[in-house]
Amino acid sequence: MDIPRIFNITESAHRIHNPMTHEKLATLGAALRLEPGASVLDLGSGSGEMLCTWARDHGITGTGVDMSQLFTDQARRRAMELEVADRVEFVHGDAAGYVSEAKVDVAACVGATWIAGGVGGTIELLTRSLRAGGLILIGEPYWRRLPPTEEVARGCLASSLSDFLLLPDLLASLGGLGCDVVEMVLADQDGWDRYEAAKWLTMRRWLAANPDDELAGEVRAKLGTEPERYAAYTREYLGWGVFALMAR
Ligand code: SAH
Repeated sequence: MDIPRIFNITESAHRIHNPMTHEKLATLGAALRLEPGASVLDLGSGSGEMLCTWARDHGITGTGVDMSQLFTDQARRRAMELEVADRVEFVHGDAAGYVSEAKVDVAACVGATWIAGGVGGTIELLTRSLRAGGLILIGEPYWRRLPPTEEVARGCLASSLSDFLLLPDLLASLGGLGCDVVEMVLADQDGWDRYEAAKWLTMRRWLAANPDDELAGEVRAKLGTEPERYAAYTREYLGWGVFALMAR
């Protein structure tokens, strides 16, 4: 079981697999006023940077679930490196339908809401693991500026303009799902650069090391087009944020 290999190639050097920077992740951890010993479940935990740094900085305990074997291995190594391996564990597996045995204080899905069919389904899934009064964290894109055409939306790698909302509409829709929005930390274009531009150097080095790989052609083509596509579309039109929610 694994995610498509192309992501394990292009994001192999990422610690954070979304446009949040290390500083923003720290800002979010502080904004949530986490108490030592608070428990956090993270579905689609990637390379574990959020749980590992929050365990180090706030003394939380946590479980992350991710379908990438590579990212899960990296998360376990990061936990050892930050000396928090006794407080956080990483499970390699499908997070679809994953419910924790004990109720948690914070249940998160940061940039992987497709695992439960979108934001609404993900909130429902996370709620099944959450103690009464706990926090839900959702990381999700929104339109910074509305794309003028469907073509521009597709340039942002959306399947259609209707994939995402403008920020006020996204916040309103979270309210419509029965949640109070109680905090948010938004990524910015510098953060997008860290997420997207970091892939280019990774791809270039991977190509040099793997010229005969079956994905070499695809990676070569991507490296040739991604900087321009990203600058023209994603960087201009797409926003990204983590939203903290509490059930009403
Ligand atoms: N939350 C992490 C990773 C976001 S990227 C971070 O912010 O760094 C999306 C993650 O979802 C990837 O790590 C990918 O491996 C994982 N993923 C995709 N489908 C999944 C599934 N069905 N179950 C668990 N993880 C999944």
